[in-house]
Parts: sequence; C-alpha cells; structure tokens
Amino acid sequence: MTEDHDTELPAVDVSYVIPIYDEADGLPDLVAALEELLDELSAEYSVEVLFVDDGSRDDSWRLIVEAADRLPQLAGVRLSRNFGHQVALTCGYQLARGRAVISMDADLQDPPEVSLRMIEEWENGADIVYAVRTARRGETWFKRATASAFYWLIERLRGTGSAPRNSADFRLLSHRALIALNALPERHRYIRGLVGWIGLHTATVHYERQPRRAGSTKYPLLKMLRFATDAIVSMSSRPLRLAYVMALLASLPFLGYLGYNLVQWLFFDVEMVRGWPSLILSVITFGTCILLFMGLLGEYVGRIYDEVKGRPLYLISERTSWDDD
Ligand code: UDP
Ligand code: MG
Repeated sequence: MTEDHDTELPAVDVSYVIPIYDEADGLPDLVAALEELLDELSAEYSVEVLFVDDGSRDDSWRLIVEAADRLPQLAGVRLSRNFGHQVALTCGYQLARGRAVISMDADLQDPPEVSLRMIEEWENGADIVYAVRTARRGETWFKRATASAFYWLIERLRGTGSAPRNSADFRLLSHRALIALNALPERHRYIRGLVGWIGLHTATVHYERQPRRAGSTKYPLLKMLRFATDAIVSMSSRPLRLAYVMALLASLPFLGYLGYNLVQWLFFDVEMVRGWPSLILSVITFGTCILLFMGLLGEYVGRIYDEVKGRPLYLISERTSWDDD
C-alpha cells in the first residue's frame, strides 16, 4: 500500500520476507541461520531480509532492531498491532524489493537452506516455487488431522486455482508474480489461494518440515478456524449452494411421511389424528437449516462489508532504515 510497486524496478536480487509474532525465544537462532544463508548467497546475489513484526508483545521488536543495526541487509517494520499472519505477510510482499521474493516462517520450521533450491528453480524460469513438505515432524496428531481435513475440504471446494497440498506459506515469487499478487485487492487474504489463482509458470521443491525451534504455535484453534473459514469463503461460493441440497435432504423424510399417511388413509382406512412429533421434527430440522445458512450468508455479507469499507490492510508504526535510505 505504501510503496508504488508497479513503477519500481527491483533493487536487489532476492528478498526474504518473514512475519514475526512473539518469536523472541527463537529470533537469535533465526538470525544466525539467516546470516549463514546470506554468506552463502552473497557471492552471487544481493539479498535483503525483511522482518515484519506483527504487533509482538514480547521482546521481538527490540531483537529485530538490534539485528538490523548489525546486519546491513536486514530491515524490520513493525505493525501497529497484531493483524494476523496473512496480513503481515502481505505487508512484507508489498515492501519487498527483490527480483525474487521468498516468504517463510520465523520458527525455522521451514529450513532456510531449502530456499537455495527454490532460487535454482527460479533461475530455471519458474515464477512461483512452492515448497511442499514431505513430513510434518514434531506436530501433534491434532494439528496433522485438522490440516489434512482442511486440505481435503479445500480441494473439493476450490473455485479457481489452488496451491499444491501441503505447501504452506513457504514459497518463492518472481517479480511479475509478486506484482500480480499485490494487485489482488481483497482484504480477507488467503494467500495460498491467491497465489494459486495467478497461474504462471510454477515449480515445486520438497522438504521435510522441522519441529518448531522455540516458543509455541501462534495458531491456536480459533485462529486456525478463522483461517480455514477465510480460505473456504474467499475462494469458493459453493457452500451457498449447499442450501439446496440440505433443504432437499431435510424434506425427504417428510415427503415419505406424507406418502405413508396417504396410503394409510386411502387404503387402510386409518384415522388421521396424529401430529405433534412430526411437527416438532419438521420445525427443528428446517429451523436448523435456515439458521445454518443464515450464518453462512452472514460470512459472505460480512466480507462484502469489509471490502466495501476499504480500510488499509495494516498500519506501520515503526521501521528500521534500509541500508541505502
Ligand atoms: N504469525 C504472525 N502473526 C500471527 C500469527 C503468526 O505473524 O498472528 C507468524 C509467526 O510468527 C510465524 C508464522 O506466522 O513466523 C507462522 O506461525 P506459526 O509457526 O505459529 O504457525 P504454525 O507453524 O504452527 O502453523
Ligand atoms: Mg510454525
């Protein structure tokens, strides 16, 4: 939002964008790993690392400022509060100045050295390089189970485009893919879906997802649910159509019941003073359906409202200076 990307030519070869939320425990390790990486890359490429502090409440920002003072390639911006992972990542994408931009998590679950292979793929002409994990070590069965249920659902619902299964937000984007992504204006950003929508030339590299190095997950259950809802609702309006199916399914027993009564009445001369169980049942079933789909409609209407308000996605409260400004 703050930088006019379309007119700006890339200033460096490779940018790393890393969202940070309360990662003070792991930051020293991360910076050390990045330093190693920079050493390796510096022979061939100019590199910048951009930390986006997503309103951390711990020491993260102080550590970022310290690291930025020490390493000229490293810079940090601080958002005015916690805006969420996808927005922090978006901020990084909008500020990054590389010909290739690599996003990864701060907890070293995405091993930085994998990015070297991503850069190779980019050199071979790929615009989007996904890092696909082959193993999720050190994650609870609950996380694994919910993640695979999530991917199953997304694959069935996807309206347009989708990223490969088991690719997180660890990816490389070429400059033109980045411009395309930054031009997508929606506010409930499910970045994996948006990147899938872009198309262009894609490639994948495989890696083993590591356990979190320090601290705990910043995606508690509620945040995960919100993320999943965003993913489904932002990429597909198919759930709205479920209303028809549900209505049909719910009405089937009643049609059956009606038929049964008719037969009794016509052929067996049974008296017809029955009533309230079927009444209650129908009220409950249809009532539930209606409420469910009002809620679902609400999801979409709420998002339309958010889009229409057109607020900025995030506010930056502080930033360290880049080496050349
Ligand atoms: N994160 C963030 N804002 C948030 C939550 C998470 O910037 O509100 C960052 C976090 O610091 C990490 C990345 O997003 O760099 C992924 O979060 P985490 O590792 O906790 O997610 P998980 O790997 O458990 O899915
Ligand atoms: Mg993690």
